Amino acid sequence: MEEIMKKGFSDLGIDLNENQMNQFMIYKNLLLEWNEKMNLTAIEDERDIVIKHFIDSISCLKVKGFDKINRLIDVGTGAGFPGIPIKIMEPNIELTLLDALNKRVTFLKEVCKETSLVKVDFLHGRAEDFGRLDDFRESYDAAVSRAVASLNVLVEYCMPFIKVGGIFICQKGPQVEDEMASSKKAIEVLGGKVVEKLEISLPLSDIKHKIVVIEKVKPTPTKYPRKAGKPTKSPII
Ligand code: SAM
Repeated sequence: MEEIMKKGFSDLGIDLNENQMNQFMIYKNLLLEWNEKMNLTAIEDERDIVIKHFIDSISCLKVKGFDKINRLIDVGTGAGFPGIPIKIMEPNIELTLLDALNKRVTFLKEVCKETSLVKVDFLHGRAEDFGRLDDFRESYDAAVSRAVASLNVLVEYCMPFIKVGGIFICQKGPQVEDEMASSKKAIEVLGGKVVEKLEISLPLSDIKHKIVVIEKVKPTPTKYPRKAGKPTKSPII
């Protein structure tokens, strides 16, 4: 597995040291172990975990200006993707992992303990609720999110957390163009502007992913995010 990790990371042009490799292996083993007792991921094959979770997550490091991020929130992180792989690679980032399911948050705490990751906060609850609180609102340099909701819903979850001048890094599948077209209004209303779109050829696979980067160019109006559940029921259109 370590050879696959090295090859995949090097194909993306990212160096991996021995300590980081160990942290990823501990993470993989915990994921496999805990997945037997709770539903954490449908991906259970070790090679697939490495490629579709770890390498896919660290492709976010290819975004322009990533090195300027100090405070990052992963919204709907699930079993820790993409937040934990990013934190392993960039240990100085202050990371917040947010998820609506408490059992997943319990798992994330265990992973961070076993891999000795520090400066990680864990939030159990809905993005719509935390995004209204002063302690979290407009206090992050960046938000990331993967596989949580359609883009027009996701921007309402994520944009409130980001400072003006910060970025939202959204990992999406190849069909993102349609989602972008139906999210134009939501992005603008919430204070965003699309600044970059990256196509990632996932190493050691034939999978292509997109990363959309939205800069926060003005504050998000205080009426957003709306009450929990509302963004999904009636997305901004
Ligand atoms: N981001 C991870 C990944 O790519 O593997 C998890 C994806 S999983 C399909 C979606 C996760 O988003 C779930 O763990 C769910 O609990 C969380 N989620 C969905 N809506 C949410 C919300 N409004 N606030 C917080 N978490 C949410």
